[in-house]
Amino acid sequence: MRFLVYSEDRELAFQILAKARELADIKGSEVVALVTDGAPQDYINQGADKAFNIEGLGSFALTPYRAAMLKAVDEAAADYILIGATKRGKELAPRIAATLGVGCMNECYSMRFEDDRLVVEKLTYGGSTVATEYSSRVPTVITVSPRSFEKLEAAERSGEIIALDVDIPEPEVKVIEVREKPKSSSDVENADIIISAGRGFKAKEDLKILDKLAEILGAAIGCTRPISADLGWMDFWVGISGKKVKPSLYITCGISGQIQHVAGIRDSKIIVSINNDESAGIHGVSDYSIVGDVYEVVPALVKVLKERA
Ligand SMILES: Cc1cc2nc3c(=O)[nH]c(=O)nc-3n(C[C@H](O)[C@H](O)[C@H](O)COP(=O)(O)OP(=O)(O)OC[C@H]3O[C@@H](n4cnc5c(N)ncnc54)[C@H](O)[C@@H]3O)c2cc1C
Repeated sequence: MRFLVYSEDRELAFQILAKARELADIKGSEVVALVTDGAPQDYINQGADKAFNIEGLGSFALTPYRAAMLKAVDEAAADYILIGATKRGKELAPRIAATLGVGCMNECYSMRFEDDRLVVEKLTYGGSTVATEYSSRVPTVITVSPRSFEKLEAAERSGEIIALDVDIPEPEVKVIEVREKPKSSSDVENADIIISAGRGFKAKEDLKILDKLAEILGAAIGCTRPISADLGWMDFWVGISGKKVKPSLYITCGISGQIQHVAGIRDSKIIVSINNDESAGIHGVSDYSIVGDVYEVVPALVKVLKERA
């Protein structure tokens, strides 16, 4: 029961490696990492027995990655092909599954063996239910959601580094220009403290009151889907269909607590909510609730925190 792990996002690859290591140890089997960032020893240190190293794939076109992945599946004789559920990983995984003629289970956040079956869990129906799935045969492709598993403490481990020899096909996509993305969305995914805005805010300019609080706390700012997708005040949102986050502290401001938002924040260590409606659902999922107006509570918090600082 060999595991092959790949994600272009190193942190996510390490998180998946940790889980693959745990599962492989149960079955006395092997974990192989496909490495495209030129640092194969890091992947060994994070739990892989072997690192298939390949360079020169470029950054954008999927065709070379698909070729490398298929070669790695073959060389590793992989049963479980675990791919990080990033935007790019979710494009790659079905291509691998379709080429191999096997199943693909998507955005899983839990994996366990039941007898000899690898059973996975994922959220469905906007995060309100959990689907439990397994594939009746191997190989099988599984995409794994970010922050589902904790990476291992990096330790010097020994393993085999193998240069993967692949005929890299010509990319189908020609890159004409590269522009840097605004930092905000990646900030929120990695942030330890997040303040999120909901429709309790009446105008885009009003979101500025969060900047001061964010500055004092060293927090990133997020929002609900209507604030982004409907009103266009921010270019991403937090939740089941947006960014899933796992901060130490998540502060909601004027957010009702619909399941689609809560599904993306449920792994936060502490949730603090400010909502002027005592019966709002968000209070039920919060560790601390402030029933009050964001326009009054946020400036009051800023004042107190400033005084303490
Ligand atoms: C398929 C699908 C996927 C979705 N995915 C997501 C997702 O990923 N993320 C997401 O966020 N949503 C998602 N949604 C939308 C989701 O269902 C909710 O509509 C949304 O989360 C509600 O956003 P909100 O809390 O900002 O607004 P509302 O539900 O309108 O809540 C606003 C809250 O602000 C409070 N309020 C009003 N004024 C004040 C004030 N002055 N001070 C304090 N509180 C105040 C109100 O009491 C209310 O509770 C999805 C919906 C669908 C159908």
